[in-house]
Amino acid sequence: MESVTTMKKTHGLILLLLLIICWALINEEVPYVNSQTLATSEKNTLAQAKTKKAIPRPVIYLVPHADDETLTYGVDIQKERQRGRPIYLILFSQGEESIAREVLNGHYDHQSVNKNRVGEPILCRWHGRIHSPNEEHFADGSLSRKEFGKARIRDFYRVAKVLGIPSSHIRTYSLPNDHFTPSQVQSVIDSALKKFPGADFRTMSPYDVHPDHALIGKELANAIQTNKISASQVHYFVSIYTDRFAKVDIPFKKHISTIKKGSKAYIRLVQSMDVYRDYDPKQGSYATGYHSVPKQFDALIKATYTSWYLPQIAPSNKKETAG
Ligand SMILES: [Zn+2]
Ligand SMILES: [Zn+2]
Repeated sequence: MESVTTMKKTHGLILLLLLIICWALINEEVPYVNSQTLATSEKNTLAQAKTKKAIPRPVIYLVPHADDETLTYGVDIQKERQRGRPIYLILFSQGEESIAREVLNGHYDHQSVNKNRVGEPILCRWHGRIHSPNEEHFADGSLSRKEFGKARIRDFYRVAKVLGIPSSHIRTYSLPNDHFTPSQVQSVIDSALKKFPGADFRTMSPYDVHPDHALIGKELANAIQTNKISASQVHYFVSIYTDRFAKVDIPFKKHISTIKKGSKAYIRLVQSMDVYRDYDPKQGSYATGYHSVPKQFDALIKATYTSWYLPQIAPSNKKETAG
């Protein structure tokens, strides 16, 4: 009898224990579901925050001519790309007016600036010979200004691809190179400021020796003055020619950005230079960069750095940014 009572007691205890467990589980279910829901919504919020964080402010490069994005901005583009920032290129001109066109054609023609030299041969110092579009089977025949401009734009898009910039991030304009006017430049800048509010802008310095370059710098400086953009969003770049050849003295503290030889960024920069060196005229590649400013390309490959400075702002607002 004693043992039966004990067994009954034990069963009763087990039953009670099971009931308690069931009750606990039932009650537990609600907070569990809630915590799941919370966890999910929390995850979503975190993901949203991460997504917001993952899209850094874009950087807009104001490029006067095809090759400036490599020669002057190439190092900076690589650095910003490594930081994961979206890169946009605004190309102002097709660069159709260049002595490289006559060099490639092997002679001056009626579209040359110097009309007195029409028909006169011109030596390609880079190749050490006089070119002949006919004998070399140029894909576009003798290059008119229009064809030459198109070839430069083709090279520009090829470079952008090498640099990892999608073509949807490129805007091109057809301002007549060497003859930009303030109103033309202002209108391009205004439309870029409207399209990319809050973005960082990279421009050439108003001290640049090339009038097209300097004008873009001046017009962006005007945009700062008229509060269309904050000074903290702007960096002025000293073009490789202005910096290393003309050695213009910039009266502000200059910063130097470099990339290491052999790094991924360095390799991409070299690849972009290679596009401007690629001479395959039958396929429409005319080494537009090297036929125009070979010494500047050589200088960049020798020392992969670029110089820039910050807009001068009132001391109370002055911000020092890392390079
Ligand atoms: Zn230029
Ligand atoms: Zn040549």
